[in-house]
Amino acid sequence: MKIKYQSLTGMHDVLPQEQAYFKKIQKTVESVSNYYSFEKIETPILEFTEVFQKAVGDDTDIVGKEMYTFRTKGGDMVSLRPEGTAGVMRSYLEHGMHNLPQPVKLWYTGPFFRYERPQAGRFRQFHQFGFEAIGDSSPSIDGQIIQMSYDVLKELGFKNLTIEVNSIGDSECRPYFRKILMGYLKSKRSSLCSDCQRRLKENPLRILDCKEEKCQRVKAGAPQVIDHLCEACHAHFKEVLEFLDELELPYTLNPYLVRGLDYYTKTVFEIVDKTKPEGSADDPETAVGTLIGGGRYDNLSKMLGGRDVPGCGSAAGIERIVALMKSREMKTSFSKDAVSGPPKIFLAQLGQLAKRKSMKLFEEFRSAKIPVAESFSKDSLKTQLRTANKLNIKWVLIFGQKEALEDFITLRDMDTGIQKEIKLDKVVEEMSRLTGKEKIKK
Ligand code: AMP
Repeated sequence: MKIKYQSLTGMHDVLPQEQAYFKKIQKTVESVSNYYSFEKIETPILEFTEVFQKAVGDDTDIVGKEMYTFRTKGGDMVSLRPEGTAGVMRSYLEHGMHNLPQPVKLWYTGPFFRYERPQAGRFRQFHQFGFEAIGDSSPSIDGQIIQMSYDVLKELGFKNLTIEVNSIGDSECRPYFRKILMGYLKSKRSSLCSDCQRRLKENPLRILDCKEEKCQRVKAGAPQVIDHLCEACHAHFKEVLEFLDELELPYTLNPYLVRGLDYYTKTVFEIVDKTKPEGSADDPETAVGTLIGGGRYDNLSKMLGGRDVPGCGSAAGIERIVALMKSREMKTSFSKDAVSGPPKIFLAQLGQLAKRKSMKLFEEFRSAKIPVAESFSKDSLKTQLRTANKLNIKWVLIFGQKEALEDFITLRDMDTGIQKEIKLDKVVEEMSRLTGKEKIKK
């Protein structure tokens, strides 16, 4: 008998046998978020259409073609959210979160909606989780967001990940690059797909994002934004890469990575699984594409009519992750010995090199499941020690210039004021012993 009703095209049920995958992802995201002091936020599934028009951009595919938009009985134009960042920023502004200590670090998960052509890894209702750090322009935040995104996939069991990174500049340097790119693309107009011929007028940068083979060929000869960054964007990108080097993250520069949303500035990145699916490389069952995408969005707040607030974040496609986990029969069990309890250690740092190295150390503590508080975005040692005091933390690890150069760290007992030096490669081991003891033996 033919079934009368089916789910809508591109929409699917998450059946009981799939729940274990969703649960494992949710718990992993929660555990990484907790460690990095990101707090959960939930925003409504419906927002005023204008929120997405202003933030994501009217001429993007997501807003221009893919939004579920309708007028309510009361006459408001509203849309099902196609992505998470715009709503989170709207909430930050609406609730005056600039009055909180910055950056405000948030994570979310839930359903999102895009009227896309359904194909492998592309649905009309799908789930994402995402991280947002709002209110801090430092490159260390970009490093932290990339590290956390990578951590989740790694913890889920993905082994062959690559992080593609690029900088797309800001309102200072992008207009000039746009002109140069426009000149090049105009000379190749007839070799572009029809969509891109239209994009040429509206947003030439997006042509670099087009997956059509014709356009890929044109892209291969296009000028690269990275050669045309202003001094500030160049310095920012250099520092982000230095963080990624120090964190030993597997990244490659992709000079044509632009990402399809208007709010991005400076750093953009995507995390891809490089494992070739069994059989053909193009097996539609397993070729799911990018797992996580993100970047910096320093103009978003102003685009929404708010004050000048920088931000950086990422979003992951849960169905894509589940598809790969299933096809590879990856484990859905969740380790019970998650990091728990309030931190007994505070990691303070002074200077750029120390900041980079302390982020690496922080990750090592996370792997060892020892809770540690940090304040990577604060530069003065005094402020950091004050924070440690407020948190009632006994052990402070101080990572200064000298320490960073000579690979040791200074441990301070906040109760007695006694300090001692520990070699960097012994810190995690020593601290895991010490956090049970009362005083430092000299
Ligand atoms: P975006 O918001 O476009 O940067 O997407 C972030 C991530 O969400 C992508 O890397 C994908 O993993 C996932 N994603 C985006 N669109 C879809 C879709 N239509 N269906 C399933 N996953 C998607």
